[in-house]
Amino acid sequence: MVALRGKKAKVTTKPKAVEKAAKAAAKVAAAADKDALSHGRLAQQQKLARRREEEFQELVRFALQSGLALGGSDDSLAGSGQSVSVVCNALLTAFCATGKDRQLSPTEILAKLTRMARKRVCGAIFSADEIAYSCRNCQLDATCVTCKDCFTHSDHAGHDVYFQRTTAGSSCDCGDLHAWKRSGFCSKHLGVEASQTGASKKHKLPKQIGLMAPVVIDAVVEHVYQVLLGVEYGFELADAFELFTQSIPPQFLPIHSDLELAGGQDVNRNDTTSSSVPSTTRSENQLMIRSAGPGGRLEGQTREVKREPNELSDDSSGVPFGIRLHNDDVHSLNEVINHLCVALDFSKSSARSAVSQVDQQGDSMVSTRSLLRCPSVVGNLARRSLNISVAPTWWEKQMDGLPALLEWLQSVSTASDGLGGLVSEALRKQRSRAFKGFDPLATTLTKGKTLWEFMKEHNMRLHSHAADVLVALVGEEKDVFTWAADQEAAQKKRFSFRADDLSQSSSAPVTATTFLAEGNRVGCHNVFIEEFVKAVSLSHSYRHHENVRKGFDAVVSKYFTVEQAAAAPADAASTTSALTLLVRYDCTLRKRTVEQSHALLREHLLDIQFRSSMLEAYLRSYASMTSMFLRGLGNSSESIFDFAVQFLTVPHLVQSYTTKEAAKNPERPQLVRELLCALKTVFKSAVDPKERVLNADHPALSSQKYKGGDPQVRRGIHQNHVEYESDSWLSMFNLGIRVHSVFAITWNGFNPAQLDAAEMKVADVFRPIIDAIIGSSALLNDKVKTKMLMPLPKLATASKRSTSRLDKLMTYDFTVASQPTSLHIPLHRFLTAAVRHICVNQSGFGDAIASNGFLNVFGLDKLPGEGCWMLMEMPLRCL
Ligand SMILES: [Zn+2]
Ligand SMILES: [Zn+2]
Ligand SMILES: [Zn+2]
Repeated sequence: MVALRGKKAKVTTKPKAVEKAAKAAAKVAAAADKDALSHGRLAQQQKLARRREEEFQELVRFALQSGLALGGSDDSLAGSGQSVSVVCNALLTAFCATGKDRQLSPTEILAKLTRMARKRVCGAIFSADEIAYSCRNCQLDATCVTCKDCFTHSDHAGHDVYFQRTTAGSSCDCGDLHAWKRSGFCSKHLGVEASQTGASKKHKLPKQIGLMAPVVIDAVVEHVYQVLLGVEYGFELADAFELFTQSIPPQFLPIHSDLELAGGQDVNRNDTTSSSVPSTTRSENQLMIRSAGPGGRLEGQTREVKREPNELSDDSSGVPFGIRLHNDDVHSLNEVINHLCVALDFSKSSARSAVSQVDQQGDSMVSTRSLLRCPSVVGNLARRSLNISVAPTWWEKQMDGLPALLEWLQSVSTASDGLGGLVSEALRKQRSRAFKGFDPLATTLTKGKTLWEFMKEHNMRLHSHAADVLVALVGEEKDVFTWAADQEAAQKKRFSFRADDLSQSSSAPVTATTFLAEGNRVGCHNVFIEEFVKAVSLSHSYRHHENVRKGFDAVVSKYFTVEQAAAAPADAASTTSALTLLVRYDCTLRKRTVEQSHALLREHLLDIQFRSSMLEAYLRSYASMTSMFLRGLGNSSESIFDFAVQFLTVPHLVQSYTTKEAAKNPERPQLVRELLCALKTVFKSAVDPKERVLNADHPALSSQKYKGGDPQVRRGIHQNHVEYESDSWLSMFNLGIRVHSVFAITWNGFNPAQLDAAEMKVADVFRPIIDAIIGSSALLNDKVKTKMLMPLPKLATASKRSTSRLDKLMTYDFTVASQPTSLHIPLHRFLTAAVRHICVNQSGFGDAIASNGFLNVFGLDKLPGEGCWMLMEMPLRCL
């Protein structure tokens, strides 16, 4: 303002003009003052409006998440009576309350959004054994295909065109610049520009939708994530039960809490009742209580006292847990029926109906009981090698809601690039591993306001559909604070896993110090196991039976870790993403859920950034996916492994992953290692540990997935040598693609020169490869009847005379034409490719290897002689 006046005054010289100018300046200044004032007011108003918006967004987030979490088992959301997709669409378009939008339904509004990316790539899905088209001139690698439609609309005149049989789940790559040269695209699919992928997508949403979309989408994905965490923790809990009961003789099970024994008549009830140790003592000195022993009379009294103030005393057993039996293709139906009859005391007919449910939908809850009652049954079933998971029964219902949610996520992803980008982001987002349901809200709300009052206060104008949905979720009469507090209380009740938890609502948590005498602060990431361990530590059985304490110690030492004070808060172990869990637990999900999940993943795989995240999720989970696969879990017709072709064959994705991983985790450097560790698991599990021979009856091999996984025989003296892996091996290693095609590209990103102590690391990387090769070779050599090492000249019929030099070369007496030559040729190729990469590649590392240090670098010096023979022998047989 000052500057303005001065400036004006300077340019004018005449007094009149000065006066005039001054007046004008004053006017301007006043206007500016007013402007500034209104600017300030505006800024303040905007700030306020923004804050109200945020508060409203929080309310929507809470309403949606609590509705989903506490909702029913069908597709409709709790209280609203409407389907998940109707509710979510309405909330998504809540702010579209002006202009034409007001008259349109949410689906009509969403239909107006742009969806460019989808149109630029074909992505048509093949079923098994369809014909796909390839062109050697246009494709970027041998796995790239187009569908018939795209092929007829593209120009490959004079090109080298051929056909391929498709595997289920693969898709048409037309329009994908990472698969085809642009010249090979059809006229309909123009390809995604680099600028159109990823982050730029989110700017394309209209403002009103852009305000709600991230909130609604993230709320839905967070809920999906929480449900999937339950899968993870449920399987882990079952494993913990198995471990716990290993050393406990049946007569000590189930675990008895004090009250059952004190009350006498309660022993046979199918639950546990509150523990009687007063809270102050229990959290302070468990060891003291142990040595003092139980005080029966005292316990009888405390029960009365404790129950009195407790609102929830009608349900004294804590949250009921469901024991779930999962489908596998290892056991026959009759075997499972028999197991159920013996282990659970089922009648033949109820066992049969449970098993048929497992067969049809993928799993079935075979028993419901309190946390302390589960271990004996679960241990019993698990030792019969059945696949079991254990989780609260309310969680089972949430599981039923997954397909509808995944379907909605897919529908908005296809509706618009902007929404698709948000879904992709939410799926890939790293989230905490805490299984906690929804985050609270009540404390931030003002008391005594109904929903309408809240909306009025916040100056919210909503689309009528959104208002209806909110009314259905929150209710019109109740004030929002009470409603939120009720929702939170309902959730808290669901997370009260132990009986004693309920008997004192303000329970001082049993500090972990009681678990370990040293006083270390320990924790368990799995809240189910943590609560179970607490319950056991307070039980009568724990104090009286050495075996129970042994089982307890085993569980604690396996699942509890010493908590480091605030160290490494966000490492890979403490966070994960919805995408990773969808990939990892794919084989445990029900049929309908799997179908929806795959459709959603396929939709997003069009985006190269998502592909790269999925590659990471896939490889991080590969070991655990393989072990579940070996347990027979999963639906073999639609497998997550079929997705591998979408990213494992994209060289630049594999390379950047490898480079990133090698830099981040020098001890666990790459894809190669993940794959081979998993392969080793396959071999190991199929070999009888005592006799060191292939056990054909082992579940891993007798599974239909492994049928035909035979050693390959050379095709005869005048025919081609064994060349490619057979299809049966392809499916055995469940990569979804031919192993040899992966191996060629896996090495490219691996540069040992980047690693500290590169020599040692190379040996580390090679160990699993060598183990896998020797593992497979050992099986074959066990079958060779005349297994003996002979001097080479004796085998070579032409050479009668014995030269002293050749006598030292020993080999097996083995006819390559008559016997299987190798269990897995691509594996040998892989080793060869690896050696070549290390020694000849551009990194220059090869030059650094002293010629006499070769064996050392690859770790071959640590192999016994027999191992070296086998390593060299097998590739030679295939030549
Ligand atoms: Zn196509
Ligand atoms: Zn096309
Ligand atoms: Zn072509």
